[in-house]
Amino acid sequence: MSLKVAVIGAGIVGCLTAIKLQESGYDVTIIDKNEIGKESSWAGAGILFPLMPWEYEPRVFELCIYAANFYKNFSSKLFKITGIDSEFIESSLLCIDPSDKKTILNWAKNNNLNFNECSFLNLPSYLFPKVTQIRPPRLMKAIKLFMQEIGINIRENTSLIKLKKEGYKIESWPTTENEQIKADIFVITSGAWTSNLVIDHEDIIYPVRGQMIQYKKIEVNMKHILYSDDFYILQRKDGVILAGSTVEYVGFDKNTDATALNELMKKTSILVPELKGIIPENHWAGIRPGTKGNIPIIKKAENYENIFINSGHYRYGLTMAPMSAEEIYKLILESS
Ligand SMILES: Cc1cc2nc3c(=O)[nH]c(=O)nc-3n(C[C@H](O)[C@H](O)[C@H](O)COP(=O)(O)OP(=O)(O)OC[C@H]3O[C@@H](n4cnc5c(N)ncnc54)[C@H](O)[C@@H]3O)c2cc1C
Repeated sequence: MSLKVAVIGAGIVGCLTAIKLQESGYDVTIIDKNEIGKESSWAGAGILFPLMPWEYEPRVFELCIYAANFYKNFSSKLFKITGIDSEFIESSLLCIDPSDKKTILNWAKNNNLNFNECSFLNLPSYLFPKVTQIRPPRLMKAIKLFMQEIGINIRENTSLIKLKKEGYKIESWPTTENEQIKADIFVITSGAWTSNLVIDHEDIIYPVRGQMIQYKKIEVNMKHILYSDDFYILQRKDGVILAGSTVEYVGFDKNTDATALNELMKKTSILVPELKGIIPENHWAGIRPGTKGNIPIIKKAENYENIFINSGHYRYGLTMAPMSAEEIYKLILESS
């Protein structure tokens, strides 16, 4: 009989973990306190590449490098099965006026990555042709249908609580409604909320708010994702344009504010002057699972025999989720 796995948290990390385990022969249930994919994963821009990867430890890029190929194949599989287009686009990224040319050159050489030097608004710029993007709300919608299709048991609106005891193999995990979720193995993929489940030190994974804006389609055809000074703009297949994002330490507050709106609009109008004075049609915020150095926790939980953690993907969870699902699967396989 297959081992039962409960995956706690249905963002992109939990969903790709659940799919990997189900397709490898485990009997998977995925649980979320809300609806599937409606937290950070829904809010993301969907750029499948780290911004300024040369500024991070090599581990960050190691977790990201698999994303473009994975989503290219996965989005076409999702389309065939669900009819939903997740809008995977090979859109390339133009990095405008980065400060340290030598570091970028070295990094690109070490990682065998091609780029072209060019100029944008008379500023020295670097074009990375291999950078891709996906549309998170559509991706998450398609993933939910796909999970149903392959027999994953989905439990929405079910919130698990923090475990009290340590140092043992658990057979069930209590919900806020006093129900017991039974499984042989538990995987925590609860993003920014992970510390509420097993980790006591809030400084390990902490909430970081990001605000984004979206403009209606106008007569602009953006050839690349534009990136400058920790700010980016990208266009979807239907022509809408997104810009973001803020990095704010305000706890789990998902409100948006006028200061961020004005700042994002100002930066947008510099890179795409056609958008100057236009009021965005949408403005939202998501809570990223922040971690030091943007390095997620992918490991067996200390003090428990059958709990694993796959959380803390901070700014690049959509990009890192495929590789991190592979890594947690290998750890589970080795221990079961
Ligand atoms: C504005 C913004 C832009 C971004 N842009 C990009 C980008 O371009 N590229 C990129 O790669 N990444 C991007 N990110 C980051 C990316 O979205 C996150 O790293 C990623 O979504 C994290 O995925 P996750 O599954 O760990 O978390 P989440 O999507 O937050 O999922 C965690 C889930 O756990 C559930 N949960 C929590 N506690 C419990 C509980 N007690 N019981 C049951 N369920 C629980 C939550 O309801 C939630 O659905 C962006 C993020 C933001 C906010």
